[in-house]
Amino acid sequence: MLTLTGKPVSTGIGIGPLATYRRAAISTEVRPVEDTEAELARFRKAREEAAGQLGSLYAKALETVGEKDAAIFEIHRMMLEDDEYTEGVEGRIREGLNAEAAVDQTALELAAVFRDMEDEYMRGRAADVTDVSRRVVQILCGAASEDAFVYEKVILAAGDLSPEEVMHLDAETVLGIVLSAGSATSHTAILIRNLGIPAVFGVGQAVCGQEGKTAVVDAIGGKVFLDPDEATLTEMRERQGRWQESQKALERVRGKESVTQDGQKVRIYANAGHLADLPGVVGSDAEGIGLFRSEFIYLESDDYPTEEQQFAVYKKVLEAMPGKRVIIRTMDIGADKKADYFALKPEENPALGLRAIRLCLTRPELFKTQLRALCRASAYGKLAVMFPMIISVEEVRRAREMLRKAKLELLAEGVPVAETIETGIMIETPAAAIISDKLAKEVDFFSIGTNDLTQYTLAIDRQQTGLDDFFDAHHPALLRLIEMTVRNAHEAGIWAGICGELGADLSMTETFLRMGIDELSVPAASVLLLRSKVRSLDIGASGNKEL
Ligand code: PEP
Ligand code: MG
Repeated sequence: MLTLTGKPVSTGIGIGPLATYRRAAISTEVRPVEDTEAELARFRKAREEAAGQLGSLYAKALETVGEKDAAIFEIHRMMLEDDEYTEGVEGRIREGLNAEAAVDQTALELAAVFRDMEDEYMRGRAADVTDVSRRVVQILCGAASEDAFVYEKVILAAGDLSPEEVMHLDAETVLGIVLSAGSATSHTAILIRNLGIPAVFGVGQAVCGQEGKTAVVDAIGGKVFLDPDEATLTEMRERQGRWQESQKALERVRGKESVTQDGQKVRIYANAGHLADLPGVVGSDAEGIGLFRSEFIYLESDDYPTEEQQFAVYKKVLEAMPGKRVIIRTMDIGADKKADYFALKPEENPALGLRAIRLCLTRPELFKTQLRALCRASAYGKLAVMFPMIISVEEVRRAREMLRKAKLELLAEGVPVAETIETGIMIETPAAAIISDKLAKEVDFFSIGTNDLTQYTLAIDRQQTGLDDFFDAHHPALLRLIEMTVRNAHEAGIWAGICGELGADLSMTETFLRMGIDELSVPAASVLLLRSKVRSLDIGASGNKEL
């Protein structure tokens, strides 16, 4: 048995066989080809292998997720046999291109054709051409397939994972995650918490090369056991059972008010990253969505998502939460959240670079598309919009003006838009907290992003492995900024919430309630736990503590 210690970044215990996440090393660079016939044969062999893979995935998916969801693999397989596709690739190879580049160029061309089609279903096929071609290129490059863990229940091991990679994971099949590196405050960690998968980061290299061994991820104690002995396995199974029981016990506060013993109320909302988080949020009994990270729509796409595509997502989110406030944050692209098609220049300090509202104001045409989609969706629920990474009154005014124009434009086109769309900002830079008295006069609410506020206040890169011990989210400087922000909000007659991870830290709940926080937005799995904590507190009796 091997015992590894790391940083728990979510909670719960996962037990299963270990599978290593393999990142496909693929290249579609153009290479000169001398033997065209041999290159054609390489392509045909890879295509056949891809069809075989898709056939077995279809069979497995039929058993596990049913015919409707399995159909995608059949569609992909049929695409491989499509004449236009095959002739496109083979024609390019005959002109002298290598197979990888020929597949890539054909996929780009066909995807563009699909994307321009009128019919929504056909437009959706663009992503399928890209996916299926990626599979063929992977085979041509000899890279391992990423399907290994998709339909098996496993504990996933990796060096680190990007936010995009986490978005492809499924909590039903990934029973736990163990990373040799990783930062507990990164977006990778946040997405894993939102999915509710037990995870431990920073366990070191020993987790590599342990394929197939039984692994226990104890995200309560921050330990990983590889090849556990019988006694450890039994103990961990018992702990897992007790943890599951304690989760069930929280059901007693479902449907109850989030109110302290002495009557102080706070709204408990949930955070969501993308549509896959919605069932968890809906089932969590959250009173609203306090942060919908819209940038993940951009990260999931291979090209700028259109107004129509964004509208469809926002509408779904609003319709899933009837009568409840849904706060959608405008795209926070930049820093660690980058999509290739944005073609952003490399930066020395990306966390301090062209990110979030700065990018939106620099590329107004992109921002306008998102604002129009949001305004259109506002007719389907209780939408609030908020802007990230604000540092000045000027930025807020410019962003609000663009939102106002988008709304007027739609109304002039006869498109329904909600009468009022609450508009807020994230307080996640020290500058915003310090001028929160001025900012409060410009908006309807504040949502404090403690993840970035900690990073920028303490000057600690939240993405960097190895700094977690310095990332003190309880630092008095941070708490004073939060208190000041809440006070300034209330003095201006607006409300203030917290949507950073600190909102779910139960050791801080009393402090935040004493500050008078109005809302806490947390991962779905923490909603009932937090409500139970709130209901146990008696703020009046606990007195004020110095920050
Ligand atoms: C934050 O910074 O606290 C926040 C909620 O935004 P994100 O974690 O997405 O940067
Ligand atoms: Mg942030």
